[in-house]
Amino acid sequence: MANSKPAPKAAAKPSSAKTGAKSGSKKTAAKKPAPQKPRARRPKYSKAEVFEIFKRFQAALPEPEGELHYVNAYTMLVAVVLSAQATDVGVNKATIPLFKVADSPEKMLALGEDRVRDAIKSIGLYRNKAKNVIALSSALIETFGGAVPQTREELETLPGVGRKTANVVLNIAFGQPTIAVDTHLFRFGNRVGLAPGKTPLEVELALEKIVPEEFMLHAHHWLILHGRYVCKARKPDCDKCVIFDLCKSPEKIVAV
Ligand code: SF4
Repeated sequence: MANSKPAPKAAAKPSSAKTGAKSGSKKTAAKKPAPQKPRARRPKYSKAEVFEIFKRFQAALPEPEGELHYVNAYTMLVAVVLSAQATDVGVNKATIPLFKVADSPEKMLALGEDRVRDAIKSIGLYRNKAKNVIALSSALIETFGGAVPQTREELETLPGVGRKTANVVLNIAFGQPTIAVDTHLFRFGNRVGLAPGKTPLEVELALEKIVPEEFMLHAHHWLILHGRYVCKARKPDCDKCVIFDLCKSPEKIVAV
């Protein structure tokens, strides 16, 4: 019987894909992932406290309404697209006359980009916004038969429409319990610690988890209005706040 030597085992080769080290380069210790910064600890709100917070918002303003002018789902969509980095008051000034002549995608297309641009030139980024209004009107006709779609995924396919815009339209035009996180709501969620998050999406998802179902439809309105007019960026009006005693924000201003 032949004395067959076992074939020498191939030397284990460090996988450059795994280590990231190039062949022939000095062996370096695998990089450890950078330690994650500990999350700022914030006081938590109990279920009962969250319920009480929204109960008070509801009692103060049972039927909150957005401040953008619109006459139907299409004009709501256009108004929200125009409101990016602009005030609602400024947008309304332009859209009140615009929607009198163009309250449907067909009429907006008939008006044409030049006249739309002219109608909204008092609004920031108006050139780009006019392009988007025309492009989204065209897409609505081509893809959705001229109607505004009622899902976030479909809305987000339209030019100039992101998640926040889609959430506003779904909530206001179609009564869906979505939460659109704008700059005021983002600040409020983090400042008060009710829904902390590094991005608007994190704040939105945090709120979806904690807002009691019966308050979901109006939650984003209450929070946006509260952030805009009471829990303001520079100096919150804590003395006028309906949730003062419940608020656990370190920025809360306690009168002395
Ligand atoms: S008490 Fe002050 S900081 Fe807290 S939610 Fe009210 S306005 Fe904002």
